[in-house]
Amino acid sequence: MAQHRVAIVGGGPAGLMAAEWLSSHGVAVDIYDAMPSVGRKFLLAGVGGMNITHSEPAEPFLSRYGARCDELAPVLQSFGAPQLREWVHGLGVETFVGSSGRVFPREMKAAPLLRALAGTFACKWRENPCATSLAGLDDRRCAALCLAGR
Ligand SMILES: Cc1cc2nc3c(=O)[nH]c(=O)nc-3n(C[C@H](O)[C@H](O)[C@H](O)COP(=O)(O)OP(=O)(O)OC[C@H]3O[C@@H](n4cnc5c(N)ncnc54)[C@H](O)[C@@H]3O)c2cc1C
Repeated sequence: MAQHRVAIVGGGPAGLMAAEWLSSHGVAVDIYDAMPSVGRKFLLAGVGGMNITHSEPAEPFLSRYGARCDELAPVLQSFGAPQLREWVHGLGVETFVGSSGRVFPREMKAAPLLRALAGTFACKWRENPCATSLAGLDDRRCAALCLAGR
């Protein structure tokens, strides 16, 4: 069987979640981030009490996306707020619904979630973290990435 290896540029929650999914499906991942550590903005999100989603029913939840709600409906049907919550629980992070209906990780911080997420996959970056910026794509705008250390 072919061994696939995927380069993920950006170690925010989106990149880390992609890495977790790929890794759980047998694909090796390498993360490249312009900063010397991943998830920095996500960590900021935890400063004032991080919420991960909202507990309201699917229909009003979808309406929050305004003009893009039709486009996003299929995405949110396959992976919406309940699935996100289950996924977070699967990482070992408990959640609760606040009085506003927002859903918070038990500790209301991003760090436990970030640690759990980053710990789900093997990655060269963890062995040798270094800041690496994506400088551009090649002329064909396809697989070749041009990576330049800072
Ligand atoms: C104060 C504050 C509070 C917030 N509160 C919440 C909250 O309560 N709940 C919530 O869900 N969200 C909250 N957010 C928003 C949340 O942090 C973002 O939605 C989330 O971080 C976006 O994730 P991302 O992976 O798409 O992008 P980012 O987190 O921005 O990650 C992108 C990564 O890519 C890297 N990168 C960028 N350019 C390059 C390049 N050229 N080469 C290599 N790497 C590159 C960056 O260094 C970064 O690590 C908050 C944000 C802030 C600032």
